[in-house]
Amino acid sequence: MRILIVEDERQIALDLQTALGEAGYVMDLAYDGETAWYLGDTEDYDAVLLDLGLPKLDGMTVLKRWRAAGRTMPVIALTARDSWRDKVDGIDAGADDYLAKPFQMEELLARVRSIIRRGSGNTSAVLTIDTVMLDTKQQDATVDGRAVGLTQLEFRALSYLMHHKSCVVSQGELTEHVYGQDFPHDSNAVEVLIARLRKKVGTTFIRTKRGQGYIVGGE
Ligand code: CA
Repeated sequence: MRILIVEDERQIALDLQTALGEAGYVMDLAYDGETAWYLGDTEDYDAVLLDLGLPKLDGMTVLKRWRAAGRTMPVIALTARDSWRDKVDGIDAGADDYLAKPFQMEELLARVRSIIRRGSGNTSAVLTIDTVMLDTKQQDATVDGRAVGLTQLEFRALSYLMHHKSCVVSQGELTEHVYGQDFPHDSNAVEVLIARLRKKVGTTFIRTKRGQGYIVGGE
């Protein structure tokens, strides 16, 4: 899962980057509104954390422009504490959720998980498809009730596929959301990753759609 962090306070941005990295996400950072607007308009994110007070272009304007351009990715607005007007304006401008600063990192992570799974029609942090259960909070999986250890890359790939159940995910899309900016030089990297994952979750769980990509769950 790939996240855009928009925050001009470097320490908060760094803390978010660290916490989200440990939680298994890949992310891009923007420190001002113009960069944020550009990235959100041209790249594909599973969620955006958007500070509203930003240099160059304020967060509310960035959000309105994204929505006007048809960009529908889920956005959590980070607002100043007790600014109820910010919350109302943010939600009216198209934010899906908000969090007042300062916030507890645990709460932010829970909201990120929630907003991402809501977008994919899941109601719980544990995703289940057939015999495979993926705990998106603990970053672990079981198959037939048996725990299988996942590397971070394997977790990211399985999580993305299971959040897009019954959808064909192309190799390019998977690469973007699993590797983020650490784009692999080896063009077979995704194939190798999927092969490793299949050994853990069962060879038929992740199916290949020839020339199109990968799919889990029924069609
Ligand atoms: Ca700010």
